[in-house]
Amino acid sequence: MSPFAPTVAAFSELADGVRRLLAPNPSMMTGPGTNTYLIGNEAIAVIDPGPAISRHIDKIREKSTGSIRWILVTHTHPDHSPAVRALAAATGAEVLGMPAPAAGHQDRTFMPDRVLADGDVLESDEFCLRAVHTPGHASNHLCYLHTRLNWLFTGDHIIDGSTVVIDPPDGNMRDYLQSLSRCKALRVKALAPGHGGLLHEPERVIDWIIEHRLQREAKVLAAMQANPELTTHELVPHVYPEIEPKLRALAERSLLAHVLKLKEHGQGS
Ligand SMILES: [Zn+2]
Repeated sequence: MSPFAPTVAAFSELADGVRRLLAPNPSMMTGPGTNTYLIGNEAIAVIDPGPAISRHIDKIREKSTGSIRWILVTHTHPDHSPAVRALAAATGAEVLGMPAPAAGHQDRTFMPDRVLADGDVLESDEFCLRAVHTPGHASNHLCYLHTRLNWLFTGDHIIDGSTVVIDPPDGNMRDYLQSLSRCKALRVKALAPGHGGLLHEPERVIDWIIEHRLQREAKVLAAMQANPELTTHELVPHVYPEIEPKLRALAERSLLAHVLKLKEHGQGS
């Protein structure tokens, strides 16, 4: 859980029919900002239009080489989906994704025309995107597999340069690890994350994340066993001794996610 290092260009052509636009919302949580992807050349699918910033929405329209027909979201956190409404109103595009869950900090303006389930497919003459349900960071999180390129658009399930916050109850560590294993099994060529640059060694990246989480979990278990009287809040410095004060509250949420997973397995109580 370190601050972001990667830098991302404002606009990049990543492959034929795959363009990436960086939203102007850099922060501790979003790194360089949210990535918006434009898929296709003639009929365009936008993945994650980002926060409702009008100059970003204008850029999405300007950089689209064809007409925007579909808008997909990976999940409904405030840095990923609030621009959907204005973009859909301006283009008439169909909105696809899973509705916002009740828990957590969610964008409740998000209203999909088509609610997606795991395995659902959006097919055009130019591309095919398959929804992969990946709960963990958010219960309604979908990754999208571009089947021709064999690239996975990962939203906040996997990001570049940092680990993601798992914030219970909508965030769930057990689901998160299972979803990572599922993504690994897809054997994709590249991961196109919601924050940061394209990741070219998917299996190595996913293995590292799983290993990192399991190591952290072992630390959590050891700290709980050594200090059974401490609350989750009090355990933070034992598990994250190096944590910067400004990241402490986030670390506590992920620590709680580990504690809940351990308790589910009858450990650490
Ligand atoms: Zn998120």
